[in-house]
Amino acid sequence: VIASHLVTPEDIDVSWADIAGLDGVIQELRETVVLPVRHRELFRRSQLWRAPKGVLLHGPPGCGKTLIAKAIAKDAGMRFINLDVAVLTDKWYGESQKLATAVFTLAQKIQPCIIFIDEIESFLRMRGSGDHEATAMMKTQFMLQWDGLMSSANVCVLVLGATNRPQDLDKAILRRMPAQFHIGVPHDSQRQAILRLILQSEQLNPSVNLKELARLTPGFSGSDLRELCRHASMYRMRLFMRENLNMGEGASEGEFQWDFASKDQSLQ
Ligand code: ATP
Repeated sequence: VIASHLVTPEDIDVSWADIAGLDGVIQELRETVVLPVRHRELFRRSQLWRAPKGVLLHGPPGCGKTLIAKAIAKDAGMRFINLDVAVLTDKWYGESQKLATAVFTLAQKIQPCIIFIDEIESFLRMRGSGDHEATAMMKTQFMLQWDGLMSSANVCVLVLGATNRPQDLDKAILRRMPAQFHIGVPHDSQRQAILRLILQSEQLNPSVNLKELARLTPGFSGSDLRELCRHASMYRMRLFMRENLNMGEGASEGEFQWDFASKDQSLQ
């Protein structure tokens, strides 16, 4: 079951070039995580420069945490186990301690490897507080296995967690993830860079002004911006169909309208 969540670096479909506006954090991640893995022999002699065994990416939804996790794995040449918590705990219900052991055993066998846990707070939240006994045991086992990694310098396995709610992670977990990176809502120039990337292979009307579009979209995540562009292109496509192929309904003449105050809307 776990192997079906495994991807090799060659098959990872995201690289740094697919991420815009995050050059600073990417630079830090490359230095902290990627270089010590790619140059293990060099870094092995140093006590200070070791590949971390726990890294946390935190920030609001849709701002690039999953993209970054995959790009790290690709750049560092690491295999990538995407631990879908809901599926795995469900499938292994009652045997969840074995799940934790199996994940780490597999990761060590195929190292260098990233164990990626999205929404890590829901997996490892508040140990002991009202947990089902089996879940609590699985968490304890997970922590034990993780500690095993920390003590073995030659093992190149990284637990990479992502969360929108870092406040729900207990101190024991945060301690195991000393490297923490905030991936925030993009500001003006970051939005402009993201829009440029999303639209790079589209045929744009020369009147489209990305700087202005970025100015009009405060609070939009990368995912919101992609959605906005998708809606705009669908609008254009519907108009084209109607004008040229006598097909389709819904797009009226005139400008594409978007009420920028509200992201949650359909095309007008
Ligand atoms: P969640 O917390 O919901 O899992 P996330 O932070 O992991 O969100 P991603 O899944 O990495 O967000 O991003 C969602 C989509 O938004 C990406 O597939 C991409 O299309 C777009 N996107 C987000 N941020 C960026 C960015 N900085 N550059 C380019 N595309 C972006």
